[in-house]
Amino acid sequence: MHKITLIPGDGIGPEVTDSCIKIIDATGVNIEFEKVDAGADVMETEGTPLPDYVLSSIRKNKVAIKGPITTPVGSGFRSVNVALRKKLDLYANLRPTRSFEGINTRYENIDLVVVRENTEGLYAGIERYTSDDKSSGETIRRITKDASERIAQFAFEYAKNEKRNKVTVTHKANIMKVTDGIFLDAARKISEKYPNVEFEDRIIDNMCMQLVVKPELYDIILAPNLFGDILSDLCAGLVGGLGIAPGANIGDEIAVFEPVHGSAPKYAGMDKVNSTATILSGVLMLKYIKETDAADSITKALEAAFREGKHLTYDLGGDAKLSEFTEYIISKLP
Ligand code: NAD
Repeated sequence: MHKITLIPGDGIGPEVTDSCIKIIDATGVNIEFEKVDAGADVMETEGTPLPDYVLSSIRKNKVAIKGPITTPVGSGFRSVNVALRKKLDLYANLRPTRSFEGINTRYENIDLVVVRENTEGLYAGIERYTSDDKSSGETIRRITKDASERIAQFAFEYAKNEKRNKVTVTHKANIMKVTDGIFLDAARKISEKYPNVEFEDRIIDNMCMQLVVKPELYDIILAPNLFGDILSDLCAGLVGGLGIAPGANIGDEIAVFEPVHGSAPKYAGMDKVNSTATILSGVLMLKYIKETDAADSITKALEAAFREGKHLTYDLGGDAKLSEFTEYIISKLP
């Protein structure tokens, strides 16, 4: 039996994680979920949005699935999501995006993976006002050779294990010669150990244009923190939006699985949003704990449902409630 930490999150988090857990349970896989709360509501009762018991539960169980957590814009507490990744040293953010037959988009046969460095860069949270009247400020973009090499190593190992052909590193080393120079050099160095995986680099602005015009040229995209975050939303848009884009935060011993999207507060509690991104994060989790039969069953159920095109949520052009979509996926499990 597996024991896994469940963090429902806030906004639409509780609905999408509930849907995902119901579907995982329906496969018959033997998992006990240990539920712990983090986020704005917990801040009121515990004085912190990320209580120690959340971290202890994840450290003990080694694997967690989580819904999105709201981060106040401009002021207020820092991102719980970023803090979790840093405190647990979940240095690799893996964000695969693929097309599903039946989901109407501008593109077909997209199969891309963004591997994003998750612990430093512009998300390190080193920032300050540089004038008393708060009219100027600075954010430090720290990038190290060690962190860059380990994320590059992760990308190439992933390519080797998943039998993928190419890693494209993206950067702005023409302008940020120091920090992105380090990131690019690290990727070049690691690429030499993987002669069977093609390696190339693209400047980030060109990368965005290329992904929109000819996404089929790309396979795995390796990126520093902020660029990877932005690119993964772009990739989600290619295949049908944030409702279907999953993610994983992976360290050497611990992994936390969560959708790419945020807490979408305006849809909270409406039984309306799409839980596919969280379900697919659950599929990544099942593969990680080597429950591949359950992972494959859920993937097949989603593929069958999308092919039929019934009971889709609003973002995919349907009018099904989230609860109807969940029941429908369960009915499609092989
Ligand atoms: P968001 O991803 O929450 O929502 C943007 C839009 O995408 C929504 O308005 C909706 O139209 C669509 N969308 C998102 N999820 C969907 C789903 N499951 N089904 C259908 N449509 C969906 O982005 P935002 O509005 O910029 O951020 C809201 C909050 O979430 C912020 O506080 C932000 O900091 C936080 N956030 C958290 C995480 C995380 O927990 N890892 C990630 C991103 C944003």
